[in-house]
Amino acid sequence: MAAQRNYDLAVVGAGIVGLAHAYHAHRRGLRVAVVEQNDGVVGASVQNFGHACITAQSGRALEYARAGRRHWLDLARSADFWAAEAGTWCVARRDDELAVMTEFAAERDDEAVRLLSRDEILDRVPVADPATAGGMYLPFDLQIDPRAAAPAIARWLEAEGVDFHWHTAALGFETGRIRTSRGELSATHVVIATNYDVDRLFPALADGLVRCRLHMLRARVALPRPLPGPLFTGWSLVRYSGFENLPSTPDLAQRLAVEHPDEVALDLHQMYTPQRDGTILVGDTHARDVSPVPFQSEDGFRVLLDETRRLFGSDIEVIERWQGVYSSAPDREFLIAEPLDRVHVVTVTTGIGMTTSMGLAADTVARIAATVAA
Ligand SMILES: Cc1cc2nc3c(=O)[nH]c(=O)nc-3n(C[C@H](O)[C@H](O)[C@H](O)COP(=O)(O)OP(=O)(O)OC[C@H]3O[C@@H](n4cnc5c(N)ncnc54)[C@H](O)[C@@H]3O)c2cc1C
Repeated sequence: MAAQRNYDLAVVGAGIVGLAHAYHAHRRGLRVAVVEQNDGVVGASVQNFGHACITAQSGRALEYARAGRRHWLDLARSADFWAAEAGTWCVARRDDELAVMTEFAAERDDEAVRLLSRDEILDRVPVADPATAGGMYLPFDLQIDPRAAAPAIARWLEAEGVDFHWHTAALGFETGRIRTSRGELSATHVVIATNYDVDRLFPALADGLVRCRLHMLRARVALPRPLPGPLFTGWSLVRYSGFENLPSTPDLAQRLAVEHPDEVALDLHQMYTPQRDGTILVGDTHARDVSPVPFQSEDGFRVLLDETRRLFGSDIEVIERWQGVYSSAPDREFLIAEPLDRVHVVTVTTGIGMTTSMGLAADTVARIAATVAA
């Protein structure tokens, strides 16, 4: 092990959750190390849409998302990666989708949710579905370069003096100490941000936690003009917690189930994020298993391509396909625990880690810093 210091905080996992903890601890002047089993950032934190989907959250996730927003923008400047205050566009292709959006707008601040007429959404977003009924725009949401952000944050933290132990697996923990594949490391506090692999380290804590596997594409879509930012569809309205308790959401879910049983079986969420090179990230489907099943059916890709053609009326050239994986657990968005004194497990257990990690980590690190200072 290169550096053998006594750290205030050792973070296990160099995904966005671990890096956000390292960032907040470093800002507070703590001595920080990061231990990562791979030799770079390759987990969920580079496999995603790069969408900080702030407004569609509720409860604790909404608090973390709102608190994290300014940190994303600060980090984009300091660590030098692309992030944009792009907001989220959402197209309604049926009246029941517009009903959910109208109820959502009535519940939230006028500044946070802007309802759009059919003409307004068609004016901004190049969708070609004749059924388009209207839409909404969520201006506070952010877009982040998903492939660049986490690696850039790691590089910047390293240059700032955070010790990174790459290609080093954490194998066991006790208060004040981590046993790794390259020796021992001492730290007053430990944050374990290993995503779904928390089930390998603390199986009792991870009861019910599974790996959620997603079909993802990067494609060139022949559009008459570029997408102005991330685009949601009606499927998004039955996915995010902010829409969950609205009066019209159950009817929408029921209609989708009746009209689109194959898509519902794939747990489709049809959404898009445009990239700076003109390509678009297209996703996604969801399949949940304890073990990371390597095989991915072509059905998911076929549905994504068919639905994309239907929405935009355009030709598509697929550039990349991949299987993204994130943690999923029934009925909870976060697994936060302290299984040993000063050993903190922090896992985002649904697909909102880019949105919530900055605010979530600020919270954990505030608690840690209070004890380090005491
Ligand atoms: C396809 C897809 C699309 C998504 N889209 C979005 C989105 O648009 N917006 C959003 O908010 N969220 C999105 N998410 C979710 C988001 O990407 C995740 O919630 C987030 O990246 C999780 O971050 P993490 O740091 O916990 O995990 P990871 O990035 O997976 O990092 C965990 C790290 O821990 C390391 N590790 C594991 N075990 C050990 C060990 N024993 N020792 C050392 N290192 C270890 C791993 O190697 C890995 O690098 C998406 C996810 C996917 C897969």
